Amino acid sequence: MLYKNFINGEWVESATGKTFKSLNPADTSDELGEFPASDARDVEKAVLAADRAFREWSRVPAPKRGELLFDVAALIKQRKEELAQLMTREMGKVLKEARGDVQEGIDMTYYIAAEGRRLLGYTTPSELPNKHCLTVRRPIGRIAAITPWNFPFAIPTWKIMPALVAGNTVVWKPASDTPRLAYELAKIFEECGLPKGVLNVVFGGGSDVGIPLCKHPKIDMISFTGSSDTGKEIYKYGAEKLSQVHLELGGKNPIIVLEDGDLDLAVEGILWSAFGTTGQRCTACSRLIIEDGVYEKLLDKLVPRTEKLRLGNGLEPQTDVGPVVNRSALEKIARYVEIGIKEGAKLLCGGEIAKEGVLSKGFFFKPTIFGDVKPSMRIFQEEIFGPVLSVVKAKDYDEAIALANNTAYGLSSSIYTQDVNKAHRAVEDLEAGITYINSGTIGAEVHLPFGGVKNTGNGGREAGLAAIDEY
Ligand code: NDP
Repeated sequence: MLYKNFINGEWVESATGKTFKSLNPADTSDELGEFPASDARDVEKAVLAADRAFREWSRVPAPKRGELLFDVAALIKQRKEELAQLMTREMGKVLKEARGDVQEGIDMTYYIAAEGRRLLGYTTPSELPNKHCLTVRRPIGRIAAITPWNFPFAIPTWKIMPALVAGNTVVWKPASDTPRLAYELAKIFEECGLPKGVLNVVFGGGSDVGIPLCKHPKIDMISFTGSSDTGKEIYKYGAEKLSQVHLELGGKNPIIVLEDGDLDLAVEGILWSAFGTTGQRCTACSRLIIEDGVYEKLLDKLVPRTEKLRLGNGLEPQTDVGPVVNRSALEKIARYVEIGIKEGAKLLCGGEIAKEGVLSKGFFFKPTIFGDVKPSMRIFQEEIFGPVLSVVKAKDYDEAIALANNTAYGLSSSIYTQDVNKAHRAVEDLEAGITYINSGTIGAEVHLPFGGVKNTGNGGREAGLAAIDEY
């Protein structure tokens, strides 16, 4: 089926007449649709629609804007299973994780809908007599939302819902790998009666759609989740016109296991954090730092469990690990494995593209662990965004923390220890936006702020109370 852009409440063809296809990464013969490969002309129409709709939408009482989001949440909930199955087909994550992604979108939408009644300001005494001071919240204006494919439902809701409840209008450019999920979300808004132009969706590539959208003079804020390289480029476009820019970027998240940690619990957390979503989460664990005394013991438990993970189509109930998102991701992961081997790391398992039987129909990479990794190695420093875990040894707590912080990124982190003092110290010592104790690096909750430090962003936070402040 040929899908269209959603501009000013209508489904319209792109000015380019060109299209691209969305394919199932587990089986590329399965097509999810053909989408417009739009360009700056389509962006122009969408931004003008958002501009025209802004005044009226910003004057709809916030609780009424919230009520519309309650309807959206209810409809997503009703369609949860269908959306989850589409997600597994479109980007590969296993069905139970896809259900979690949609559920996060439901939770976020309900959570933010209620904020329509809580756009609180404050009153304060003045320093002058006969003067009364109060604050009111006002929307920023026209927001560009640019989202990645790895959480194709949850991440868009993190941006679109708070932007809308606060009274902004939105032009959304979804990732080219997951246009179908974006279409479904836009369709839900349409069915719930969102006024024309309040949310617009333009399909197409980062250069053809993303750049003109970020540069557009009528865009007041850019909210971006994606890689650090793209984030840095987008920050410049925002700076040129002094727009606000919210960046949620990459990660190289560590798990530390100390000698007194519960090793069996740690193995579960590591498997889930390193190989869940095939390692393609911004919070995925890609560095494991083990205290000397339990290095061999932990790897003796972890490696066989990793080798037993079953690769396959995420729709099959027995599958543990799905495909990676596309061919270029597969090739990038394979290149990093070669780099790791050349750098002298010890390949403990995996390390190759899986081609057995039905796996040859898609983009599968075997869950991979490198031991004896040195902190200077590229596999320890760079975001691979695939099922590759680099393991280093630390002589004690202090060295473990130093190794964890030895990275340009700072999104999530975790420590396994039974020592309550070390656990609490780690919360202070780890340079990361999120720290887990005795749990893996993944798992956001919508009422908590989410974001990182260092190259993971520019200080903003999504979700939680911060979501409304941002917009
Ligand atoms: P990219 O940066 O490649 O793409 C993200 C989005 O930006 C896509 O919609 C993409 O479009 C678009 N885009 C690409 N180039 C440009 C450009 N020059 N100008 C404007 N838009 C552009 O990231 P990935 O899709 O590969 O996503 C994975 C990355 O996202 C990882 O680094 C991951 O860590 C990070 N991430 C961060 C999260 C966080 O909260 N910190 C959460 C999830 C992911 P197109 O798809 O058409 O190329």
